[in-house]
Amino acid sequence: MAPIGYINYVIQKWFRRSSTELQRAASVAASPIFTDFSQMLSGTSTIRAYGKQAKFFGSCTSNFDKFNSLFSSIQQANFWLSLRLDLMGGSVGAIIGGVALATNDANFIPAGWVGLALSYSIEVTSYLKHGVRMMAQVEAEMNSVERVLYYSNNVESEAAFETKLDPDPSEWPSKGEIEIQHASMRYRDGPLVLKDITVSFKGGEKIGVVGRTGSGKSSLMSALFRITEIEPDGGKVLIDGVNVANIGLKSLRLSLSIIPQDPVMFSNTVRYNLDPFEEKSEYDLWDALKKVQLAEVIAVMPDGLDEQVAEGGENFSQGQRQLLCIARSLLKKPKILVMDEATASIDNTTDAAIQQMIRENFADATVLTIAHRLNTIMDSDRVLVLGDGNVAEFDSPSALIGQGGIFASMVEKSKQAHDS
Ligand code: ATP
Ligand code: MG
Repeated sequence: MAPIGYINYVIQKWFRRSSTELQRAASVAASPIFTDFSQMLSGTSTIRAYGKQAKFFGSCTSNFDKFNSLFSSIQQANFWLSLRLDLMGGSVGAIIGGVALATNDANFIPAGWVGLALSYSIEVTSYLKHGVRMMAQVEAEMNSVERVLYYSNNVESEAAFETKLDPDPSEWPSKGEIEIQHASMRYRDGPLVLKDITVSFKGGEKIGVVGRTGSGKSSLMSALFRITEIEPDGGKVLIDGVNVANIGLKSLRLSLSIIPQDPVMFSNTVRYNLDPFEEKSEYDLWDALKKVQLAEVIAVMPDGLDEQVAEGGENFSQGQRQLLCIARSLLKKPKILVMDEATASIDNTTDAAIQQMIRENFADATVLTIAHRLNTIMDSDRVLVLGDGNVAEFDSPSALIGQGGIFASMVEKSKQAHDS
């Protein structure tokens, strides 16, 4: 039992813990090398412009030094372990040899057995090394499993994707009516960013949403999509009479469409970006591109619709990315469309053309447009002015200008800016 007990002791006390800890420390030390490296790659021109090569080279070598010292500790630990295992294997062989010699005269152990025992005792060293190394490796690699378990137990997951109450997608939403009643919302443990909002939009209405930066416009939209849930204090959001809190996220998000503040592009072809589920014909895709005035841009690309979109859409300008996102929504034909500053990076002429196109193509859809440029939303049916998470004003643009509140002063200011 003694050698096995000793092996166990070595594994438990020395090798396993130390090697796992060393492994962990080495992985921690490796990550700055990679982050620094990618940071320097993307910022090469800035580093050169400021002549800071030496500083970054210094930080790079110091990162390497830290990692290498840990890495060489791991190597030394491995050598130390194999030395001890060699010694152990050697002593097993020596004991067997000794016993055989001591009992030689009595012929206590047959010669064949002694030979067998000796040859196995020499081999056992390599098995021991292999076994211990495997155990240590399993333990070290189990770090990743530990991570997955940690995240799956500690990170709150979203609500159910599908539920039994999910409405039939062909019947719901039919009108696109949105009713928000006493909705309050906060991000994690932060302060309330939407405060008891009650507002309703009729089906097919074109709504403009304005307000100062940080007034909660984007937050209102993320509450609509249940990206952040509203407070469970009785507030609710109804779409065509269905409380969205009761249905699965999949049916909810399929029924709405959003063009977010920063346009999302996938690293794939233009075709995939327009129609990820491959449901539309070539003709539909070109038609949508024509409507957003991108057909000519795509047509001159070497691969046309199969042109690759770089990571984050870098080979398209910000405005073109927004236009592609608008084309994606056009193809989806939702009953409710949310545009969060969707035309902020597009020139005024194209913006006007896009607004016109949206009015024609989403004539019976409810369109919520968040905009800082007031001319984008001037011909909306009604304008919702948000102020610090509350509904400040909500009426038709002409009525709001007539009553002279926040919206009227915003219009006045933008006119002055335009004139000067
Ligand atoms: P902008 O015109 O700049 O787009 P906004 O009206 O869309 O502004 P929101 O993004 O809704 O403003 O932000 C409202 C408030 O919520 C802000 O005070 C902001 O600090 C907070 N907030 C927004 N997003 C988050 C988030 N992910 N986590 C925590 N707080 C957030
Ligand atoms: Mg916003």
